[in-house]
Amino acid sequence: MKAEQYKLEISKILNVHQDNIFLYWKGRVALYAVLKAMGISENDEVVLPGFTCVVVPNAIKYLKAKPVYVDIDKDSLNVPLENIKKAITTKTKVIICQNTFGLSSNIEEIVKIANENNIMTIEDCTHGFGGLYNEKSNGSYCDAAFYSTQWNKPFSTGIGGFALINNSILLKEINENNKELIKPKFTAVLNLRLLLLAKKYVLNSHTYWFLRKVYRILSKLNIVVGSSSGEELEDVIMPENYFQNMSKVQINEGLKNIKEINRLIELRKKNAVLYTELLLKHNRYHVSMQLHENHSFLKYPVLVKDRDVFMEIAEKEKIEIGDWFCSPIHPIKNNFEKWDVDVEKIPNAVFCSRKIINFPTDVKKIDKYLLFIEKNIDLFI
Ligand SMILES: *Cc1c(COP(=O)(O)O)cnc(C)c1O
Repeated sequence: MKAEQYKLEISKILNVHQDNIFLYWKGRVALYAVLKAMGISENDEVVLPGFTCVVVPNAIKYLKAKPVYVDIDKDSLNVPLENIKKAITTKTKVIICQNTFGLSSNIEEIVKIANENNIMTIEDCTHGFGGLYNEKSNGSYCDAAFYSTQWNKPFSTGIGGFALINNSILLKEINENNKELIKPKFTAVLNLRLLLLAKKYVLNSHTYWFLRKVYRILSKLNIVVGSSSGEELEDVIMPENYFQNMSKVQINEGLKNIKEINRLIELRKKNAVLYTELLLKHNRYHVSMQLHENHSFLKYPVLVKDRDVFMEIAEKEKIEIGDWFCSPIHPIKNNFEKWDVDVEKIPNAVFCSRKIINFPTDVKKIDKYLLFIEKNIDLFI
């Protein structure tokens, strides 16, 4: 079976047993499955970074639990241990830590505190698959981890994700719950197959900007399978057909693309050094060299004075930059109360979400980006 083969390939990179890997339609579904296996329900609190994707608190809210956001520090863009400690109450059942842009938090210390308080831990490795933290694979420290293979993630299957279960007590639960998984609709799979073909044959540096626009419009209108359906961005009600299995199309794509992961991480890390050296030379915000060893640099984050102005200039010069996390719960811009976000409590996350952009790291020709930075250095913080 192809699914077993795919799990085996994933497990080799994570250095775990393949039976501990579970495949899903998206990474967020993997998170939901893990939370459910942990028995999360009404009145439970889940501590998470106040600098994440809205689909993370969504999975918590779908189980009627409460997300408790913790502020980040500006250097690592991750949550310091002290802030996590302060957020823990008698209702805390789970702490979610995140590999932001490919860098983990002080995971050993967080797990220690969690264990002392009888709290489960989940690592959001959607940016960190294949990367290491203190020489162990991202995802190996917590009770469970989840990964994404969406377009922009460490390697891609268009959309897709999987979970890793390290705590054997959870295995029985997740296997039981997975009996409820829905087979993805034929139309959704066909849609994904067409997008993957379009990416392979039509997408190139000439068509990128036009196709990006078309994709974003169609995805907003729910005409193509986008990363998030409109309803996931408007409210915290679980969409129909949310709990979906991974399709064969995704498995085949995954088997093909996972082979590239080590080469990609090497390239990303190499390019990141060049970004850091340049920004350091100009005394701008950068990822400190001390953090490089544990960072897999899915993207390179920088801070800019005025993001709208910056994005406009970059687009004119055909420089592809990303805008995660443009909000503490990307990409939500209002109605924060629906997700229990209190912006007063996460000032660093609010600041960074206004100023952050990211540069690509998996490009062969980095010079274009370095020259652009050098030329526009005054726009950087
Ligand atoms: C992409 C992402 C997710 C969700 O992954 P999907 O596969 O799109 O569901 C979760 N958390 C973070 C931080 C992400 O960037």
